[in-house]
Amino acid sequence: MQIKRNVLLNPGPATTTDTVKMAQVVPDICPREKDFSSMMKRMREDLVRIVHGDLNKYTSVLFCGSGTMMMDVCINSLLPRAKKILIINNGSYSMRAVEICENYNLPFINFECPIDELPDLDKIEQILKENQDIALVYTTHNETGTGILNPVREIGLLVHKYNAVFIVDTISTYAMRPIDIERDHIDFCMASAQKGLMAMTGLSFVIGNIEIIKKSAEYPKRSYYCNLYMQYHFFETTGKMHFTPPVQTIYAARQALDEYFAEGEEAKWKRHLEVFEAIHAGLDKLGFKDIIRREIQAGLGVTVKYPDDENWSFEKIHDYCYERGFTIYPGKTAAQNTFRLCALGAITKEDIKDFFIVLYEALKVNNIQIPIHYNA
Ligand SMILES: *Cc1c(COP(=O)(O)O)cnc(C)c1O
Repeated sequence: MQIKRNVLLNPGPATTTDTVKMAQVVPDICPREKDFSSMMKRMREDLVRIVHGDLNKYTSVLFCGSGTMMMDVCINSLLPRAKKILIINNGSYSMRAVEICENYNLPFINFECPIDELPDLDKIEQILKENQDIALVYTTHNETGTGILNPVREIGLLVHKYNAVFIVDTISTYAMRPIDIERDHIDFCMASAQKGLMAMTGLSFVIGNIEIIKKSAEYPKRSYYCNLYMQYHFFETTGKMHFTPPVQTIYAARQALDEYFAEGEEAKWKRHLEVFEAIHAGLDKLGFKDIIRREIQAGLGVTVKYPDDENWSFEKIHDYCYERGFTIYPGKTAAQNTFRLCALGAITKEDIKDFFIVLYEALKVNNIQIPIHYNA
């Protein structure tokens, strides 16, 4: 079968290989069968291996849903009664964690930081010192809204110094930028199959500390479907997801895991970095500006300022590129108009070269000045 290949430069879902697409076409199977459970067991272990977790200390728990569901699960399930959660908030994806706290009426501290700077570690320490009732600390790894890389290891060290539990949204870094759960002082990190793993949408998971999950059995149950302990317990006692799993998506994720280990952590990360550098090179050549200092970018996505050009129309540029097989994505920053180009998926730096040929044409056709013009 011939499947049209699109190069997705949006922050997930990612471009997948044809072998991953085709892995979804399988004989019908009831997920209660042993064949299916044994595949899930192996998958749960492989997901822990990606972040180099010791299988005696860490496990993974799968849910049927997109990445935000895992944020919901971790936040609502891991907060003990009468304790607070600290959200380190430097962008729209950490803001989502704040909204989850608001929805569940959880006591939280919203530590708002500038979106184009790293969070101030001294201030984080001060907050932890002054609020002994903080039991959980939450941050994003790569803040997908801007592409900034948060200093997870340094924050984690502080979190553990004050005996709190550290949850990291690694949804846009997992299986791309190498993570070492133990050395990075992470207790829980989450991901979604359609991003770094380059599989299909509909399957998400958290890798976390087994002891803490067991302890959370005593915490208030704030959700029925999205409770971490309940799902963990069901997996451990029956080998299955509590409710119907996304069967075909899981077959695709199995294939994607095989391809992940075949490509290798280091080689895969090198490929993404090459794509990222090719994106920067192409943007520089046209005169586009990005909003985050290069040194603190995570290597996964570039957030680009709209030109100050009366002919600029994101929609028109998007449509021109889309019709030619390249998808670009609008920004998520309140103060400035931006668009995003991301380096995830089964793509190479050659795809980026091809993309910039198309983008150049799109700018020409729309009479947008090259080099790109900015007022300031
Ligand atoms: C993609 C992403 C999410 C989850 O988004 P969904 O649309 O729910 O899959 C959460 N956090 C970060 C940092 C992300 O990049």
